[in-house]
Amino acid sequence: MTDPVIVIRRGRERSLLRRHPWIFNGSIASTSGDPASGATVAVRSEDGAFLAWGQFSPQSSIRARVWSLDERLRPGPQLIEQRVRRAWEMRAALLPGLDAVRVLNAESDGLPGVTADRFGDVIILQLTSAGAVYWREAIIAALVAVTGCTSIVEHSDSDAMRLEGLAPCTALAFGPEPARSIVIEEGAVRYGVEPAAGQKTGFYLDQRDNRGLMHTLAAGRDVLDCFCYSGGFALNAAMAGAASVTAIDSSGPALERAQANASLNNVADRVTWLEQDVFSYLRKLRDMAKSYDLIVLDPPKLAPTSAHAERATRAYKDLNLLAFKLLRKNGLLLTFSCSGGVDRALFQKVIAGAAQDAGVSASVLRHLGPGADHPVALSFPEGDYLKGLLCGVDR
Ligand code: SAH
Repeated sequence: MTDPVIVIRRGRERSLLRRHPWIFNGSIASTSGDPASGATVAVRSEDGAFLAWGQFSPQSSIRARVWSLDERLRPGPQLIEQRVRRAWEMRAALLPGLDAVRVLNAESDGLPGVTADRFGDVIILQLTSAGAVYWREAIIAALVAVTGCTSIVEHSDSDAMRLEGLAPCTALAFGPEPARSIVIEEGAVRYGVEPAAGQKTGFYLDQRDNRGLMHTLAAGRDVLDCFCYSGGFALNAAMAGAASVTAIDSSGPALERAQANASLNNVADRVTWLEQDVFSYLRKLRDMAKSYDLIVLDPPKLAPTSAHAERATRAYKDLNLLAFKLLRKNGLLLTFSCSGGVDRALFQKVIAGAAQDAGVSASVLRHLGPGADHPVALSFPEGDYLKGLLCGVDR
């Protein structure tokens, strides 16, 4: 049986030759063989030369994602297991001893659309591309074989999926139903992670290093944690001996989890949790003439793609301007963007504009990002979504 084929328009194969893993609809000259959603297609040039094996996605403007650029590396259970093993060995070598770690980081681990986070013996799996769903069974089998996990819960639910025309799926994929809450330890703090109920895969592993940074900065300071989710930054501040900690999130369930986490760490009396919209509450704090020594801004994704960048930059500017106004002399701002559509240079420009409009001089003390379990392939800058700055205010 011959494979379905996608032919790339002349001149449009350049991004593939640079190893970029996405093939947009506009680059395709023709499709033959009527590939099913997620099925393997051979990607060829107009001259017939082999370029890649792709996973076909009939509905998305990313019409195919690259499995491999080597004709001998055909997609299938064997290639998937190889990629899972490579990813697992990298984490074991660079981040030994963690009980909560991102095992698979999609395109950057050679597995487009496949994200897997491990919490203790349980893996939370997110499949967001047609090809990932097509190979669901092989991916699950590889994760079991390589990691020895006891349970896998699929929690596939994202905007990216909808663009692929895929239905969300939350289901037990392997092993016994895990406990409702799994306790993990990250640095000095313990968290209860609820695999089936939380946002994304239940816990924002990408902020591990930055929560650790908070732990080194917070002693003796008045700390404000905006968009606190299950409390990560606030709890690190409290554990490190902050003078006061206030944490804000608009989600009631997230705050319930945060409070439970505070109890788990015996700091329930040291954090004030507020169920509020950060944008309007920061204005209120400003009107009340409140001030802080350390503010965290970790908003949700405001610009999923560069098409949303303009509106998102206005929101980032607004937030950061208010934060600069609330900071005391020598105050610190830990500010983040997890928007793929806003790159590092643009983010820093927005923060500079916010400081200027707030009438403060501030410096970048550190450039921040996720840990090594969130690799970003150099050929795939779109994967570099989490960026942050530690800024110091001098006024
Ligand atoms: N800092 C967290 C992760 C933050 S995720 C950690 O380290 O785990 C972003 C959070 O922002 C989510 O919990 C979401 O509920 C919250 N959120 C989204 N919009 C908000 C708004 N307008 N005001 C307050 N919180 C908001």
